[in-house]
Amino acid sequence: MRLFLQLLFRNRLAGFGAVVLGVIVVLAVLTPILPLHPPNETNTANRFLRPLSEGHWLGTDHLGRDLMSRLMWGTRLSLAVGFAAALFAGLAGAAIGVLAGYFGGRIDNVTMRGIDMLMAFPYILLALAIVAVLGPGLMNALIAVAVVNIPFFARNIRGVTAGIVHREFVDAARLSGMGNARILWSEVLPNVVPVIVIAMSTTIGWMILETAGLSFLGLGSQPPQADLGSMLGEARSALITAPHTSIVPGAMILLIVMSVNLLGDGVRDALDPRLRSGAPSRPEATTRVERATAPEATESGLLRLDRLETQFRIGKRVYRAVNGVSLNLSPGECVGLIGESGSGKSVTALSVMGLVASPPGVITGGAVRLDGQDLIGAPYEMLRALRGRRVAYIFQDPLSTLHPLYRIGDQLAEAITAHQPVGRAAARARAVRLLEDVRIPNPAARARAFPHELSGGMRQRVGIAMALANDPDIIIADEPTTALDVTVQAQVLALLDELRRSRGLAILFITHDFGVVSQLCDRVAVMYGGRVVEEGPTTDLLAAPAHPYTRRLIACVPELGGGRRRLAAIPGLPPAVDDLPPGCAFAPRCERAQDACRAGEIALAGKVRKVRCLFPETTP
Ligand code: ADP
Ligand code: MG
Repeated sequence: MRLFLQLLFRNRLAGFGAVVLGVIVVLAVLTPILPLHPPNETNTANRFLRPLSEGHWLGTDHLGRDLMSRLMWGTRLSLAVGFAAALFAGLAGAAIGVLAGYFGGRIDNVTMRGIDMLMAFPYILLALAIVAVLGPGLMNALIAVAVVNIPFFARNIRGVTAGIVHREFVDAARLSGMGNARILWSEVLPNVVPVIVIAMSTTIGWMILETAGLSFLGLGSQPPQADLGSMLGEARSALITAPHTSIVPGAMILLIVMSVNLLGDGVRDALDPRLRSGAPSRPEATTRVERATAPEATESGLLRLDRLETQFRIGKRVYRAVNGVSLNLSPGECVGLIGESGSGKSVTALSVMGLVASPPGVITGGAVRLDGQDLIGAPYEMLRALRGRRVAYIFQDPLSTLHPLYRIGDQLAEAITAHQPVGRAAARARAVRLLEDVRIPNPAARARAFPHELSGGMRQRVGIAMALANDPDIIIADEPTTALDVTVQAQVLALLDELRRSRGLAILFITHDFGVVSQLCDRVAVMYGGRVVEEGPTTDLLAAPAHPYTRRLIACVPELGGGRRRLAAIPGLPPAVDDLPPGCAFAPRCERAQDACRAGEIALAGKVRKVRCLFPETTP
């Protein structure tokens, strides 16, 4: 709740709306005890008094009634009717929508066709027809406005519910033996309530306007009772001679609707968890850079990361996800980047092409040089030309990176035409050849398949094919085999290895599995808490790990036929990167750690074999 209010008021306009609406609501609630003239007391001697007249602050209307008093009572009524109509329409519409979406089938068909019939009539005409049948009056206007708004809620909520019902957690609830009522209450409703609140908060303004409209036409509140719409309606004939009688209720309607809408937008943004970290703003095209100076260029290589630092800034917290990572990738080389989940591998990889989402991501230091050219802070157009063309990515879960509604052949062709001036037919033909290159059987037919029609291993092959589409020099593979079973993993690794040799690709291979590294990588860098703690040729490093963390990570890999031994998990948890200890981040979990380890920065020492440890297991 506190977080919600904090988020709400961080949005200035929403805060403004909340304050204005709050003042209006408080005044409306207090109206009966305020020292006002009776709202319906006529005094024809005092007709059309101007504002700021003696005893009548806002003047009087055509019957000499005090406008201030009528405004307050009218606001009270209009607010009450608007909120009641929104509540009624929201609850009724949501109930219909949830039931239709949850049960589907015939219930869905019958209710939704009923709703469609309501929607087939023009909105205001339907409201007028309902009032015509029920007779004029404020209560009937309320019912009319509520009824015509039910379809909006019902359709919205049905869509959301239908999307939730087929999700795994609902299946899980069903499997655990819950009944429909329990599932609706504890699984579906909590997911739907924010949507209902959001829909309501953004439609209250409308409903107030619509009721005012009906009253304006004389179908809502009946004389002498004042609401904002009927005040406007009565003032219409004196619009020129006594404009204040129209302006006063008009301005109030404007204030209410504007503040309700501003507040409604704020509520929507604050309730949407996806907007939490970055407030309501679109991620920037490339990662934001706040770097004092770039480090001096040393030797050149294909891809050199030089003391790269990437942080996430969320509120006052700073998550130091990458803390000065240096890596070197030569043509045709495969470098492994290994570490526990959360050690900063993905953020390192994404920083290379400026793909970390900003906000909250910021690159605060270091350089990434491709052929000697610094990419940090490079213009978006330049990065875009390089993305996929010279540096391509393969991600962990191909099902979520492939577009579900396009055929894979078309997606591959699109990747090709993004960088190369070839026609559609040529791109298609290349796509089929790419599928063949990654050993997909019957590629011409498979190119017409949708992602969901392929198995996990095949989808990952498509991901690899897409990365190869523009003959890149470098492929950054972020745990590409983690979602696959071991046999498919072996096939995919063999494929990558072969492609690397035949095309001279450099690969940065991210994984948490030393078994995978040993099959594929020439060199390996071990990451912990956003830092490289050890680096070296794979065989050397595997044979004699120097950092205690590396040794324990290697001990986690089971070995087939390696005899009976306990798999050694590493005790404790990886460090929280918003609160890194001084010195070695692994010290709290390390049995060799001494006071010196916790004192201060420890350098990555060594030339070919590097280790960031004061008391290494072996001296490389
Ligand atoms: P991994 O090594 O598993 O790939 P990541 O590079 O994804 O780890 O994450 C490194 C650290 O950065 C983690 O501690 C994670 O909590 C943090 N992090 C990643 N993305 C965000 C984000 N959008 N906001 C805040 N922290 C993040
Ligand atoms: Mg990752």
